[in-house]
Amino acid sequence: MKIGENVYALDSTKGSYAYLIKDKETILIDTGRPGKVKNILNEIESLYINPKDIKHILLTHHDADRVGNAASLEKETRAILWAPKKDIPYILGDKSRPGVKKLGSLYLSLMRVKKPEKIRSYDNNKIDNIEIIPTPGHTPGHVSILYKDILFAGDLVRNSNGVLKIAPSIMNADEESIKESIRKISEYSFRWVCPDNGEPLELKEEWKQLLSDIEGK
Ligand SMILES: [Zn+2]
Repeated sequence: MKIGENVYALDSTKGSYAYLIKDKETILIDTGRPGKVKNILNEIESLYINPKDIKHILLTHHDADRVGNAASLEKETRAILWAPKKDIPYILGDKSRPGVKKLGSLYLSLMRVKKPEKIRSYDNNKIDNIEIIPTPGHTPGHVSILYKDILFAGDLVRNSNGVLKIAPSIMNADEESIKESIRKISEYSFRWVCPDNGEPLELKEEWKQLLSDIEGK
């Protein structure tokens, strides 16, 4: 699905979207649930993009539906894999995922998902024309990614049939931090919100509504 000039939501990852940007460099944002590597590579080729041209894979956070194909895609594309510093120990298995997210780790091991060989942590807030914005709360290191007027929100918010919502409490490390992150990112300018969960959304009043919802108004 095309979102903007050279920006795509990969239909092969529908349900927990990965996104592709083709600017000066080709960049993949998140990698979807495990077991989709072939479909993802086929879809990228169908866009007349050589997967080997992907220079960076940017992970928004450590959850299983974000890192599901990261190791395989890192290998297939030889892209540099990036993740938030605080989330890397969970991705590498050095820290166990908390609460219900243990199931995510179990899922990854049942699917025999390999761990990435090398992950770099976001050391500054820019990669190419893309801004990496720390938005902790859903996970300790969660980041959102801003490209032109498109916000790749990870699990900062989800689109539930046109209504922007925070993920259920049980999925979040710290709900107050999410609200603070939403307030902070409201200072940036964007027209599209591309979440992991739910469809990309061209904003009308939805963000304003979200802000008033989190304030309990
Ligand atoms: Zn998540």
